[in-house]
Amino acid sequence: MTARILDGKAFAAKLRAQVADAVVGLTKRGRPAPGLAVVLVGDDAASQVYVRNKVKATEGAGMRSIEHRLPADTTQDALLQLVASLNDDPTVDGILVQLPLPRHLDSAPVIAAISPAKDVDGLTIENVGRLAAGLPGLVPCTPLGCMLLLDAALGDLAGKRALVIGRSALVGRPIAQLLTQANATVTVAHSKTRDLAGEARRAEILVAAIGQADFVRGDWIAPGATVIDVGINRIVENGTARLVGDVAYDEALPVAGAITPVPGGVGPMTIACLLANTVVAAHRRHGDVAPR
Ligand code: NDP
Repeated sequence: MTARILDGKAFAAKLRAQVADAVVGLTKRGRPAPGLAVVLVGDDAASQVYVRNKVKATEGAGMRSIEHRLPADTTQDALLQLVASLNDDPTVDGILVQLPLPRHLDSAPVIAAISPAKDVDGLTIENVGRLAAGLPGLVPCTPLGCMLLLDAALGDLAGKRALVIGRSALVGRPIAQLLTQANATVTVAHSKTRDLAGEARRAEILVAAIGQADFVRGDWIAPGATVIDVGINRIVENGTARLVGDVAYDEALPVAGAITPVPGGVGPMTIACLLANTVVAAHRRHGDVAPR
């Protein structure tokens, strides 16, 4: 038996199509197409690729993409002023500041300056607090994508034993909170966890968000477990670079019940969820009922 592959690419395409339908619904009611503003500071190569993909996906779903590319020597004040103007701009429903920022800039005040209603990355303290309190808000995109994949794979998660490896504010922690809200029994592991392999072997759902290539071995995985591999790690083998996850995929395949590949698993879901969050933000701003 080999694991069922959770095809994030196909699932994300479906989600993007649903987003496009919701955009048509909005415009039919006389609302403007939702606008997503993306702010990129500097010329980090990976960030350029991410932003290009986000712009393409935004336009592909019938939404408006508003790009702000700022030079690497942009000042903190100039960036804060731009965020303030986007907060006030009625044509902007979502604001995304691409991280990391150049070293001379402090990301915390920039994120804090984003209006929580337009915070489609779910990073402001208001949205972080709403998630922790179980209140509706805007949920970080990668964790949301993981939950949608788990929902597709397993349906009801109530009572399932879940292990999340990683506790970052961006990924591990919000995933653990969403799993708890879905009534899973959740353990959060990190670099100080003892007997991580033993913890993993008890998990029916294993989420790896560590950032280390092939860290989770096949014999850590319980037979039939659902494995969500968030990691994106670039490795070079025989002079050729490729992306691998945090889970040793070939070892996991014969043991797990279902698994996300890297690439093509969680990654594509992240951008689709960004679009979904923008549509939700647009609905709320107009006082319309947001799609689920
Ligand atoms: P961080 O570096 O912020 O967090 C890594 C977490 O892993 C920390 O909580 C850390 O523990 C834990 N960790 C590190 N080493 C170990 C270890 N030896 N044993 C157990 N736990 C360990 O990374 P992110 O959360 O931002 O990202 C995680 C991965 O997900 C990366 O590969 C990143 O590229 C990828 N990613 C993928 C996205 C996607 O769209 N698919 C989006 C965002 C990220 P501690 O807290 O104790 O230091």
